Amino acid sequence: MIGKRTVADLDKTALDAKRALVRVDFNVPVKDGVVGDDTRIRAALPTIRALKGLGARVVLLSHLGRPKGGGFEEKYSLRPVARVLEGLLGSPVTFVENPASPEAVLVTKQLPRGGVALVENTRFLAGEEQNDPATARLFAALGDFFVNDAFGSAHRAHASTEGVAHLLKPAVAGLLMEKELDYLGRALASPAHPFVAVLGGAKISGKIDVIESLLPRVDHVLIGGAMACTFFRAKGASTGTSLVEEDRVVMAKDLLARAGAKLVLPEGGVIAEALDRSDARREAAWNEIPDGWAMYDIDENTRRRFASIVKGAKTVVWNGPMGVFETTPFDEGTRAVALALAEATAAGATTVVGGGDSAAAIAEAGLEDKVSHVSTGGGASLEFLEGRVLPGVAALDDR
Ligand code: ADP
Ligand code: MG
Repeated sequence: MIGKRTVADLDKTALDAKRALVRVDFNVPVKDGVVGDDTRIRAALPTIRALKGLGARVVLLSHLGRPKGGGFEEKYSLRPVARVLEGLLGSPVTFVENPASPEAVLVTKQLPRGGVALVENTRFLAGEEQNDPATARLFAALGDFFVNDAFGSAHRAHASTEGVAHLLKPAVAGLLMEKELDYLGRALASPAHPFVAVLGGAKISGKIDVIESLLPRVDHVLIGGAMACTFFRAKGASTGTSLVEEDRVVMAKDLLARAGAKLVLPEGGVIAEALDRSDARREAAWNEIPDGWAMYDIDENTRRRFASIVKGAKTVVWNGPMGVFETTPFDEGTRAVALALAEATAAGATTVVGGGDSAAAIAEAGLEDKVSHVSTGGGASLEFLEGRVLPGVAALDDR
């Protein structure tokens, strides 16, 4: 139950032949016209199929990348995505080149019942990111009701996420949006305890609000990644050439003082003189990182400790890898945590993974189906965990 109306709440018989304007997150990697990873496209299929099945004409809106907003840019075109979607759906997808043209409205009205159209990158219009009302009206003209299934864009108040939801009613959450809000929302609002957060990644600065928001709710926060090194500094250790945010050391000190035993830091790390010197890597205690060496992963003891805490949890939220997981063998700590999440899930815990790199890491470990939920929205899931209102969600109809 997410507090917002969803596709499931709509009168099914009333959707036949209606134009469903659906904001999806098709912000996928495209190189030379080839889609590199279709995860986000596949994630939107349940909503698209449900609407198709009810006889709706499905009109899809999405952004892709960061075009300048001054019109068409080949490398940010959604056209290659339309072809991939066609393959996944097994039915044709009409591509709408210019949503600002009168033909665009015509095309949506001429779609067959259950037909699908994909509109070109919303960010080719300058008004999209400015949440310009005229641009929102333009989008609203392409549908008879609005569905937001783009959780990954919900933290942005743009014309196609927020503006249009005020103009086109009903405005409801899609199935993916509902799933995201359900898992993340329950973790924040009514988590089964023990509730453990595992936080890592490069920078403490990007995660500080998440730590603050989670601290009062969780039983433990396990800290890994380069972020841990800023805490080591706060405890007075030298950290060699490890990635540290000097300007956050004081803040880390304050957090340590307030969090007490809730905050669990690594006992040590896997260190090397450089990422490409993994042949000469070794383990070192957290306060024994020599000059010229950097910590690139959590050590064995820490992996075991983190895994045992995670496996004892009933709710786990994981954001941020434990090490430089892109470079073997510094992916081992991240892998260990991924495995612990899978085991906790098998034992009945609810486990949620948020963050782009963490999602990539769990997929790489082949464990994405072994956790309860992997969020499709990096930035959005972070802002949600920070306790912020996502404007794209707030604008949807209340239940
Ligand atoms: P997410 O996308 O899951 O939120 P982040 O973007 O915050 O995660 O962090 C991921 C990045 O953190 C990765 O590129 C990883 O290489 C880096 N990282 C993790 N641990 C370390 C470390 N010890 N030293 C340097 N970089 C690290
Ligand atoms: Mg990232």
